[in-house]
Formats: sequence, structure tokens, C-alpha cells
Amino acid sequence: MTQTVIAYGAQSQAAAISQISIERREVTPADISIDIMYCGICHSDIHQVNNDWGGAIYPIVPGHEIIGKVTNIGNQVTKFKVGDIVGVGVMVGSCGNCGSCKDNFEQYCEQGFIGTYSSKDPKHDEITYGGYSENIVVDEKFVLHVPTNLALNAVAPLLCAGITTYSPLRNWNVKSGDTVGVIGLGGLGHMGIKLAKAMGAHVVMITSSPNKAKDAKSLGADAVIISKNSEDMQNNANKFDILLNTVPVSHDLNPYLSLLKRDGTMILVGAIEPFKAGELNGFNLIFGRKRLGGSLIGGLKETQEMLDFCGENNIIPDVEMITASEINNAYKRMLNNDVKYRFVIDFTKK
Ligand code: NAP
Ligand code: ZN
Repeated sequence: MTQTVIAYGAQSQAAAISQISIERREVTPADISIDIMYCGICHSDIHQVNNDWGGAIYPIVPGHEIIGKVTNIGNQVTKFKVGDIVGVGVMVGSCGNCGSCKDNFEQYCEQGFIGTYSSKDPKHDEITYGGYSENIVVDEKFVLHVPTNLALNAVAPLLCAGITTYSPLRNWNVKSGDTVGVIGLGGLGHMGIKLAKAMGAHVVMITSSPNKAKDAKSLGADAVIISKNSEDMQNNANKFDILLNTVPVSHDLNPYLSLLKRDGTMILVGAIEPFKAGELNGFNLIFGRKRLGGSLIGGLKETQEMLDFCGENNIIPDVEMITASEINNAYKRMLNNDVKYRFVIDFTKK
């Protein structure tokens, strides 16, 4: 039987988030039904509600940083049992057959992965609805084990902010002795600091907000650069092996490229609106053999590895807990750069 559950979503482009009812599918043999306890708010939720990237399907129920308890399992489920605490991130499906899926990079599925919300799921013939809801039904392949030693409410943002910063840091082989700059101190940026630090790097926060310098240091940054201060930027030219750029709006990339050492790489994870990245001066790459790259969340295997790494190293996001009625206000605060450093919706409080 399908299940009617309370959710929080937007009925149309840029509409406020309000309470709605949605249907969750019957648990099929490979499925797990999860009562949601906590869901983080990612800036991608705001982009999607506003249809910044095009293709949003309304009503939209955002939320892809989900922690919850297993309440029911299908008869072919092997990895989980009723009562387990589990996580769900940005994906709930992929083709499973292409080169990327076979290499455990489901996020780069050649057919396109099925997003946890606002996606068409052909396998189950439905539109997906995300974690701003009481319950979700997900194929067990896309469900993660959660370390038991970490504070559960704070673990939720690892499912997107955590893996999106962990994956490029690992892919570009960040290690002791490297200098890593994290651009933008929000949800992703604060995880970037913590994870790069745990990998042994010298970590520098590059922020547009001078008032965040103290927090950046207490989160683990060894130094802070104020990106609006051109003298500060010039003094740090040619210093960085890796730059992790989390800025969520169009901006000029050229000043940041000057910070890279020879052979350094700037990795874009902030979802700059299509075709609005400004003019890239090719000489900023050519002189110094520099590289500009991008990275999308992480595959399931790597997401589990990241959760285990955070468990072993006691790494959790800094969160501000809210109730579902406060989501609209949280969006406003994120757009005003006022997030410390991830909002998490608490569904355990009714
Ligand atoms: P967030 O919590 O809102 O933080 C973004 C930070 O960027 C802000 O705190 C601010 O830091 C900086 N910033 C904001 N506006 C700026 C501006 N006009 N100029 C310069 N800096 C500015 O956002 P988030 O949740 O971390 O997400 C960041 C971006 O990553 C979003 O675009 C999101 O969609 C994207 N994302 C991508 C992936 C992926 O797989 N690639 C996954 C998740 C999210 P300062 O005050 O320190 O400058
Ligand atoms: Zn996200």
C-alpha cells in the first residue's frame, strides 16, 4: 500500500515552502522505508526551488541530507534491518550499467542519476520527493550506514556537504604538506576546512565576509584571506596547490586562479548558473600550467568511505537545528550569508 505522508515543499517556482501531502510508494523487494529524523538544508535546495538550473518539477519537496530510522524492508533487502539508523544523500537511483556506474561513480551515470527530489524515476514510474518529509522509501543500494559514535542530528549534512567536499579532496590526492584554499564559508566550505585539515593539509579560508575570520580559525583554518581585499589576494599569489570553490553565484574566477601555484588546480563545486561564469582569461591558466576542474557529490562507495572517515576522526558539521516551520526563514538567512554553518530540520520534534 502507498503511504500518505506530511511533507514541506514549494508549489511553484520561488514559492514559499509550505506543508503538503505526498504519497510514498509501497515498499518493493529492494526498498527500505525510512522515518526521517533529520534533514539538512543545502543551497542546492534553494537553487532548485527557484529553478535556477531549469528543469525543476513542481511541487518540489527538497532535502537530500537525510538521516532516519528503518521502519520496513523489502524481502530482498540484505544490508539493513528494521531499527537501523541510516542516511540518504543526493541520489536514489542510476542506470547501474554504464561505465561510471560500474566504476562506483553513480553521480556521473551516463543516463543521468535519479535525484532524491525533483527527478523522474522511470523504474518506479514516479517523481521523487526529498527529505523535507516524515518518511521516504529508497532502494537499499542508495542507503548508507551511519557511524554510531557521531551526534545524529549533526551527521545529516555529511550526506551532501560532506561528500561534495571529501570527493574532490581525495580525487586530487590532498595530503600533508599541501596548501588547500577553501572559497566561501557556508555549508560546503566549513566541511571543506574540516576534511582538508583531517587529511593533513595547510588550510586557508578565502571568504568575502571579514566577520567570519574568527569562526574560520575555530573550524580549523590555519589562515584566512579576505577575497574583497585585493592586497590580501596579491600577497597570496602562487601559494595554493588546490582551491575548492563553493561560491553559489556567478563571479569572476580570474582573481582566484592567480592564487594557484604552478600546476595547481581550482575545483568548482559551487553551482554557478549556466553561462554566467564571466570571462575566463586563458593566460591565467597557460602561465603556470594551471587547471580548472569540477566535481559532483560522490559515488555511494565513496560516500560510505567519507562517513566512516568522519566516524573515525570524529568530524561532524556545525549545525543550527530548526523546525519545519522555520525553513523559509533559513532560506532567507542563507541568501543573506547568515548560516552557521548548516541548518538541519528536526523531525523528531512534532
Ligand atoms: P551556503 O551554505 O549558502 O554557502 C555559500 C557561501 O558562499 C556563503 O556562505 C559565502 O561565504 C559564499 N558566497 C555567497 N554569496 C557570495 C558572493 N556573492 N560572492 C562571494 N562569495 C559568496 O551554500 P552551500 O550549501 O555550501 O552550497 C554552495 C554551492 O555548492 C551551491 O551553489 C550549491 O548548489 C552547490 N553544491 C554543489 C554540489 C556539487 O556536487 N558540486 C553539491 C552541493 C552543493 P563567505 O561569506 O565566506 O564568502
Ligand atoms: Zn546538496
